[in-house]
Amino acid sequence: MDWKNVEPDVYRLINKHYTPGRGGQQIKYIVRHHNAGILTIDGCWQVWQDRPASAHYQVENSGRIGQLVNDSDTAWHAANQLRNQQSIGIEHANSGGANQDWPISDTVIKQGARLAAALCRYYNLGRPEYGKNIKDHKETGQTSCPYHLAAGGKYHQAWMNEAQRFYDELTRGGGQKPATAKPVKKESKPVLTPKYFTDFLTGYLGPQFDAIQEIWKQLRGPSGNGWEQLGQNSKGQNLTLVDAVAALRADVARIEKKLDEKGKK
Ligand SMILES: [Zn+2]
Repeated sequence: MDWKNVEPDVYRLINKHYTPGRGGQQIKYIVRHHNAGILTIDGCWQVWQDRPASAHYQVENSGRIGQLVNDSDTAWHAANQLRNQQSIGIEHANSGGANQDWPISDTVIKQGARLAAALCRYYNLGRPEYGKNIKDHKETGQTSCPYHLAAGGKYHQAWMNEAQRFYDELTRGGGQKPATAKPVKKESKPVLTPKYFTDFLTGYLGPQFDAIQEIWKQLRGPSGNGWEQLGQNSKGQNLTLVDAVAALRADVARIEKKLDEKGKK
């Protein structure tokens, strides 16, 4: 792990269930998660093939850190579009299951905290401080995630202490601020299937929308009979989006023709 450049140990970029870009939003804070599972980096990649979810980083039990979504893209981890666009999601692997009440190892706590500190430095978010540039998944949505790591939980203080200590270490002597945005790594091109398209739109609109229905509605009007505000055709029917563009094109052609005739005179 290159802490100064926030270069992960490994890239394992997912090809779906995230949104390219950040919708014009800036990175403002880190959101903490735990797996509620004992996952490796590759394990996360596999889980997110089927589940419409993702996070930027996974810290696995070996201490290795993997990047699954580029920092410049929006991962689906915080149950809210704006939060997703403004944050970086860090997943922490558990070292035991439900029967052990989801423990997290010291190694994972330490690596997760250091990653957050490095990101705070890299994106000029300031010294790690809970509620400011460090937040928990459970603040949004109905979840207990990151469980024992959440503010007030048994791992919270150790995690925060290490994040602050490591931030101070990284920034000692002025802490040079990086001049450029972190370079984007591309592992594989997404396959442009109908499912990818639907997932992409779901990322923008939120899961409560049926993406295809929404597009259909935009094109045809709320009840399929055009949009009142676009005006009507000669038969008194409201125009659809396509009708309106066609009408505009016809207007432009008429104006062009007029100007042309004027020019010839
Ligand atoms: Zn979570």
